[in-house]
Amino acid sequence: MNNSYPEHAPLVQFPVQDDCLQIGGIPLIRLVQRVGVTPFYAYDRQKITERVALLRQHLPPDIHLHYAIKANPMPAVVQHLANLVDGMDVASAGEMRAALDTVLSPDRISFAGPGKKESELRCAIAAGVILNMESAQEMESIAQLGEYLGIVPKVAIRVNPDFELKSSGMKMGGGPKPFGVDAEQVPDMLTRLRALGLDFFGFHIFSGSQNLNAEAIQQVHARTFQLGIRLAENASAPVRMLNIGGGFGVPYFPGDRALNLPAIGENLQRLMPEVKQKLPDVQIVIELGRYLVAEAGIYVCRVLERKLSRGQIFLVTDGGLHHHLAASGNFGQVIRKNYPVIIGNRVQGTKREIVSVVGPLCTPLDVLADQMQMARASADDLVVVLQSGAYGLTASPTAFLGHPAPVEVLV
Ligand SMILES: *Cc1c(COP(=O)(O)O)cnc(C)c1O
Repeated sequence: MNNSYPEHAPLVQFPVQDDCLQIGGIPLIRLVQRVGVTPFYAYDRQKITERVALLRQHLPPDIHLHYAIKANPMPAVVQHLANLVDGMDVASAGEMRAALDTVLSPDRISFAGPGKKESELRCAIAAGVILNMESAQEMESIAQLGEYLGIVPKVAIRVNPDFELKSSGMKMGGGPKPFGVDAEQVPDMLTRLRALGLDFFGFHIFSGSQNLNAEAIQQVHARTFQLGIRLAENASAPVRMLNIGGGFGVPYFPGDRALNLPAIGENLQRLMPEVKQKLPDVQIVIELGRYLVAEAGIYVCRVLERKLSRGQIFLVTDGGLHHHLAASGNFGQVIRKNYPVIIGNRVQGTKREIVSVVGPLCTPLDVLADQMQMARASADDLVVVLQSGAYGLTASPTAFLGHPAPVEVLV
C-alpha cells in the first residue's frame, strides 16, 4: 500500500490488489465471505513467521526467543508460534494450559505474574513449568505445595530492577512496583531459596512494554545483564536462565517509527561475551508478545450507516470498543490517538474525505477513528483497523452492551 496516511508510519505489511487489502494472500472481500460474519479479527500466519525470522536474523543466535501469550492467546496463534519460538511465557493457569497444549516441553514454559493462586501454583508445579516468583511469600507457598506434591518446584526470581526503562509505553520495573522482588531483597531470598531446596533456574527481569526507542532498550539490556551478574553472586546454584524481558514496540500512531532492531541486535552481540563468561551455564531469554503478533493482525467491521451531523461525517459500524478497546484509545493511552484505520475494500478509493468511525455502543468513548482521512465509504464497506494482532480481543470488554463477540481467524 502506498502511503495514503502520511501521518502514520507507512504500513506495507499487507498487499493491496484492485484497491482491496489482502491478508494471508486472500482479498479482504473474499475473506469476509469465507468468515461469514463481521466483525472479526484476522491474523496472517506468514507475517508471524516472517517476524520471528527477522528477530532470528538480528538477535545473537544463542538467545532464546519466547512468546508472551497474553498479547494474543488465540489457540491457533499459540500453536503456530510454538513451532517457531524456543519457549513461552504465561501469566495465568488458562494461558499455561494453552502453552502446555503445544509441542513445547514444560521447562520451556515460564509462569510470571503477581497474585498467582494456590490452585495455579499447584498446576504449574505438577506440570513442571518454571515459576517466576513474584514475592518471598509466593516462594514459601511454592515450597509447601512442592512438598505436598512430592515434586521439587522449578523456580526463577522475577526481579524488580533498581532502574527504569525510559520512554516505555508501560513501565513494569523500577521504583515501587507490584511486579517482582525488589533487587535489594533478592540476596536474602536466595538464601531462603537454598534452605527450601527449590530447583533454581535464574532471574527474570522485565522492565516495560511498547518501547520504540532502541537506545533506551540497549541501555536496559546492558543494565539487566549487569544486574543478573551481580545477583548471581548470591545464588547457591549456577544461573541457568536470565530472562531479560522484551518490550519491543510497534508503530501505532502518527509520528511513531518502527523499532531499530539491528541496533538492538548489535548491542546484544557486544554484551553476550561478558555475560557468558561470568555466567557460563546461562541461557539468555527474550520474551516478546506485541512485537511478534501486533502487525500480523487486523480487525474488520462493516459500515452500517453513513451519517452526517452538523457537517461531520460518521461511519457507524458493527464493531467498536467492546471488541477493540485499544483502538478506541482506552487501553493505556493518555491522550487519544488514532490507530491506522482504512477502508479495506477501497483502500485509495475514488474520493477521499475526513470521517470518524464509531461503533454501536451508547457511549462517546466508542470511537475507532476520530476525524481521519480515508476513502469515501458507505453502508456495507469494510473498515479495517491495522496493527491489531496484539492486545485486541482479549484486552476488550466484550460483555459491554451485550453484543456478540467477534470471530477470530488465522489465515
Ligand atoms: C506483558 C508481558 C510481556 C509481553 O510484553 P509485550 O510488550 O507484549 O512484548 C512479557 N513479559 C511479561 C512478564 C509480561 O507481563
